Amino acid sequence: MEAIVLVNGNIITLDPSKPRAGAIAIGDDRIIGVGTNEEMLSVAGKNARIIDLEGRTVLPGLSDSHVHLIEYGLMLSSASLDVREARSIDEIKTMVGRRAKETPQEVWITGHGWDTTVLAERRPPNRWDLDEAAPDNPVMITDMGGHLCSVNSIALKLANIGKGGESPPGGKIDKDPDTGEPTGILRETAASTVEEMVTYSDEDLTTALSFALHEAIGYGITSVHCIVHSPQDIRVFQKLLIRDELPLRVYLMISASLLPHLTGLGLRTGFGNPKLKIGAIKVMLDGSIEGYTAYLTQPYEEEPDNLGIPWLSNEELLDIVSEAHETGFQLAIHAIGDRAIHMALDSIETALEKTQRMDHRHRIEHASLLDEKSVRRMRNLEVIASVQPNFISHNMDWMLEPIGSARATKLGERYRTLIDAGVKVTAGSDCPADSTMNPLVGIQSAVTRQGFVPEERITIEEAISLYTINSAYASFEERSRGSIEVGKLADLVVLSNDPLVIPTDEIGDIKVDMTIVNGEIVYTSKGFQQPGI
Ligand SMILES: [Zn+2]
Repeated sequence: MEAIVLVNGNIITLDPSKPRAGAIAIGDDRIIGVGTNEEMLSVAGKNARIIDLEGRTVLPGLSDSHVHLIEYGLMLSSASLDVREARSIDEIKTMVGRRAKETPQEVWITGHGWDTTVLAERRPPNRWDLDEAAPDNPVMITDMGGHLCSVNSIALKLANIGKGGESPPGGKIDKDPDTGEPTGILRETAASTVEEMVTYSDEDLTTALSFALHEAIGYGITSVHCIVHSPQDIRVFQKLLIRDELPLRVYLMISASLLPHLTGLGLRTGFGNPKLKIGAIKVMLDGSIEGYTAYLTQPYEEEPDNLGIPWLSNEELLDIVSEAHETGFQLAIHAIGDRAIHMALDSIETALEKTQRMDHRHRIEHASLLDEKSVRRMRNLEVIASVQPNFISHNMDWMLEPIGSARATKLGERYRTLIDAGVKVTAGSDCPADSTMNPLVGIQSAVTRQGFVPEERITIEEAISLYTINSAYASFEERSRGSIEVGKLADLVVLSNDPLVIPTDEIGDIKVDMTIVNGEIVYTSKGFQQPGI
């Protein structure tokens, strides 16, 4: 491959020994030089391809530390309905009704993204709403956070959920208080049992995944930590890798249900190649705040008997954590409520007491509600916080209503506190559990917080680190990527504006002009066509 030189740039390297530069030289998959135009032209040699950045800003490629690309891709490819923009249950019914007309009877209709905080009715769609829209197909529509779903009567019947049915451990079947009939709202593990009934072909999933991957590179994303649930999910990633259609790096966060298979083969975190790796074991420990299922120390505001729903008992959690810890896996434990976070830390602490392991880099995904003690414990146990700043890019009703403003402002999304305490923090979108995968929107909201507890704001440089070098650290890759340094993999993003210079409330609108992964240009915007590209 010919060398590439990027010249006339405003290059933010995140390398403390050389924070700024004007040019970068790339040879094959690596950065071979960082410096001035003249220096880099001579490093790359006469035959190098020269790209004139015309003053544009370059950052290390952006990394999304928590994303569900397959689920998002199913929406982008229209295999699954995208109801995130719906503002009433009627709108959702219209969309489902339209889909029912073009779907053979008995074939599942799925969708994602209802959000009671924006629906006019301020309640989830129930079985009777969905029955009206699609009487002859099973229907399942998940909420924005992906922890709850609404299903119709046919789906309930297929799942054997009737009047007498009890809620499964770690889940809840909502029932009408007068009649005892299931309402069609299923929470946590009750929702997963229905989700598991819906199947797609490999071809549907590869198509879906391609849609999501293409959107990602358009946002300057060069690496993702992607959650996968099944052997099929892993297989479709491999298919794309073999076809050379994986435009970015993928670090798989694999559902704990597959842990026995992985340990059975002797695999551990890091197996794979620089493009596709087995990453962490993903453990679900609680739900979401907006679904009233995050596991709390004190009950929800309007529901004095509800502390949320832990998916696992202490013993079950410790079994998984110990096995993963002892077999060389990184753990990524989904814990949102303050109580779930302590439970996760208890299990990690116990596993570490039994088996010391240097540099385990276990992570807590979301870590949304943190008391002082949990912050201290995270630092002492060297646990990474994997947060989602784009959750605070819009109104905060999803947190304020369920737990009240006093608790939300005391415990919620504490990035400043975490960083000051010395906890390593990385960031991701959790897309499609949030509206966008765009990391620049995440950077903007970590910096501005839209007024939500402004004391927890972080600096622009810190926010960029969360999506670059810290994300690389969270996947054990900080020596090979995450900053612009000689010898590192050439993963870069070219931006239309400098996030450090433009007004902070415009960072999310910055355009990505070019994305480079592994020394290859994988995306170029229409406005930045270069001769010879
Ligand atoms: Zn998630």
